[in-house]
Amino acid sequence: MKAKKYVVLNPFVGEPKKSDFTIGIEESLPALQENEFLAEAVYLSVDPYQRWQRDLSYPYDMIGGQIARVIESRNDAYPVGTWVMGHFGWRTYTVTKPDDERFSAKLPYLYRLPDFGDLPVSLGLGVCGRVGNTAYFGLTEFCKPEPGETVVVSGAAGAVGSHVGQIAKLFGCRVIGFAGTDEKCEWLTKELGFDFAANYKTVDLGKYLDQNAPKGVDCYFDNVGGEVSSIVMSKMNEFGRVAVCGSISTYNETNPDKMKATVLQPLIVGKQLSIHGFLVNRFADRTIEGVLQNLKWIREGKIKYRETIVHGFENAIDAFIGLFRGNNTGKSLVKIN
Ligand code: NDP
Repeated sequence: MKAKKYVVLNPFVGEPKKSDFTIGIEESLPALQENEFLAEAVYLSVDPYQRWQRDLSYPYDMIGGQIARVIESRNDAYPVGTWVMGHFGWRTYTVTKPDDERFSAKLPYLYRLPDFGDLPVSLGLGVCGRVGNTAYFGLTEFCKPEPGETVVVSGAAGAVGSHVGQIAKLFGCRVIGFAGTDEKCEWLTKELGFDFAANYKTVDLGKYLDQNAPKGVDCYFDNVGGEVSSIVMSKMNEFGRVAVCGSISTYNETNPDKMKATVLQPLIVGKQLSIHGFLVNRFADRTIEGVLQNLKWIREGKIKYRETIVHGFENAIDAFIGLFRGNNTGKSLVKIN
């Protein structure tokens, strides 16, 4: 049996390019040893963090989560037919076992999917996986929204952001989202129940917040960083809470002069803001709690989701680049076949 995989050849400079990868390198898989199983990838996850790995030496096998099905097994806990989320990278087949040190740096790197019933298993990479947990734990642990408060979400039509805004609505908040097209903003307000949404590329965000958050912003869930975030934070109320989840507006920036945003420190002090950077890995031991909470909300019809699926293993880089061009709404995925 042979697996195909992506190898990253060199650091990305600016937007990732196809020439940064070797696509479809073949690797012979060993016969299964005691405790091992063979997993066949069905969906690959495409995520912004795959752009800013800085602790890996080149070349390296492309990292990433996948939803895979066990097709051979010598491990009773992972019988044939089991669906798993595995942080195996962009590869088609994987021989692995629990505590596999090749993958275990990325927590959680392996777990059996709960029963999704008639919902698609792809949700295990999105709303019922790492993305959903990023939204759930990031919002509840760091923003701690209270009913009636105003919550602003940037990157609002993406995988994490679209979920965050809906949870904030469940908490009884007034929710404002910023996204990169009018169509995305319409989806946020008309389908997902955001109170307001604006296109950050065309709207004066300061004026927009003055109009639509007249009592100020209590919580900010920051997916994008940069000047957008400085504007939002400049409108925050005393004791406002910021969850810094990501800063995608900076990931491809090569010009240091453009990596600057308005100075906020006096305001942070004056308003006594709490600003928390976080990685979802921190909640690895609560993974299934988050997955089951999000699954429950989806089954109850309280959370909606969208997936942007690119078909074909060979097309994963198109999906990856698409993240930085705003091509996706909701979770970006690759379906292998
Ligand atoms: P998204 O689904 O949000 O995809 C990326 C989106 O970002 C694009 O669709 C685009 O939407 C927007 N975008 C791209 N470039 C820019 C830019 N220059 N300025 C503003 N928006 C831009 O990805 P995720 O939901 O998976 O991730 C969202 C953020 O959360 C990222 O920053 C990511 O790194 C971070 N993250 C952090 C985690 C953690 O543990 N802390 C875990 C998971 C994600 P648009 O059309 O609106 O521009």
